[in-house]
Amino acid sequence: YTPLAQSDPEVQNIIDKETWRQFSGLELIASENLTSRATMEANGSILTNKYSEGLPGARYYGGNEWVDELEVLCQKRALEAFHLDPAQWGVNVQPYSGSTANFAALTALLQPQDRLMGLGLPDGGHLTHGYYTAKKKMTASSIYFQSLPYGLDPATQHIDYKGVASQAKIYKPRLIICGASAYPRDWDYKALRAIADEHGAFLMSDMAHISGLVAGGVNASPFDYCDVVTTTTHKTLRGPRAGLIFFKKDSDKAKDLEKRVNDAVFPACQGGPHNNTIAGIATTLLQATQPSWKEYALQVVKNAQVLAKELVAHQYKLQTSGTENHLVLWDLRPLGLTGSKLEKLCDIVGITINKNAVSGDASAQVPGGIRLGTAAITSRDMLESDIKVVADFLHRAVQLSLILQKEAGSKLLKDFVRVATTQSEGKQGAQLV
Ligand code: PLP
Repeated sequence: YTPLAQSDPEVQNIIDKETWRQFSGLELIASENLTSRATMEANGSILTNKYSEGLPGARYYGGNEWVDELEVLCQKRALEAFHLDPAQWGVNVQPYSGSTANFAALTALLQPQDRLMGLGLPDGGHLTHGYYTAKKKMTASSIYFQSLPYGLDPATQHIDYKGVASQAKIYKPRLIICGASAYPRDWDYKALRAIADEHGAFLMSDMAHISGLVAGGVNASPFDYCDVVTTTTHKTLRGPRAGLIFFKKDSDKAKDLEKRVNDAVFPACQGGPHNNTIAGIATTLLQATQPSWKEYALQVVKNAQVLAKELVAHQYKLQTSGTENHLVLWDLRPLGLTGSKLEKLCDIVGITINKNAVSGDASAQVPGGIRLGTAAITSRDMLESDIKVVADFLHRAVQLSLILQKEAGSKLLKDFVRVATTQSEGKQGAQLV
């Protein structure tokens, strides 16, 4: 028995069940990954006991000799992983998550109610990029700042860069954000930099989804054009759940970005850093600087491209008809199936996916698509041949969903749900029938 199993068997039991779920099923959620045991060990270490408000060498608590060494190491590795010159770029490794990293970055770059532009949520953007609805401003990024979403070209479903330029002419934003949660294509940072420059605006990239691919050199680097770059550390980067903020030390737009970002993280938005998480990030970043990381990143993209190709071969419709990164956006509307129905059925058969809005969805509440990602299954060493099997499973899941939808309320549906539920409760893992 481990100390946890002995002192709290209830929590241990839940962890055991989740462990089984993760290892018996197929993890296709594009924002998730399977972090290494080394990272988990660092993340679960005694560093969780330590308070260290402030920055290395300037803390508000004693006893930070080793924590200082850790944070400096993590900063150094973060710059190395993204091939950044420490004379030009700095990084804050303290954000608790991607959302807090983004809010701290907005706090650093903007005054309250300044204007920003980000990719709209229904087109693949993130909540923290200024999202609001006609009824409500529900995100801090829209409550404390004014925002205007930009979107996709309806013909190509790629970012409408010309549209961004004409919107910016009228809106005159102080900040343009690039980056997305559900966009299968690479970014034209140069085009966005030119638009930002025309209006004296900052350019920030939230590379949360693709940072592992940027570190591996298989997606374009936002560092060539942006003033600030944020990321989560737990998606394609495969680390613990946290965030990073990179800032240009000597940006044309502001001389003092380093101080602005550091002050925005603490004391503006956060308290003491989570040193155990910083240890986990450092361990992950060491992995991301190894030659094997490039191979991983390349395989993630190859796998996503095979997945896209196989689905297209089955006559399914994908947003932008393919992918250049780790994710595939699958438009289910031509099938008359909603994303939530397929998500539910896949849950029953041990395939984890998430429903997602696709461009032109009538309602964000009933998304017409599914988002798939290959970061986690590539961490399990799956290659192109395995992905063909995964695509076939998904095809069968869709066919089954269509049959069950047609038979809604019928004995067939009830029997299916009963058998599948019994199987998963018996820890057998449900099978596609
Ligand atoms: N930015 C992007 C592009 C994301 O996709 C996400 C999460 O999915 C976040 C930020 C927020 O990250 P977190 O959940 O760690 O707050």
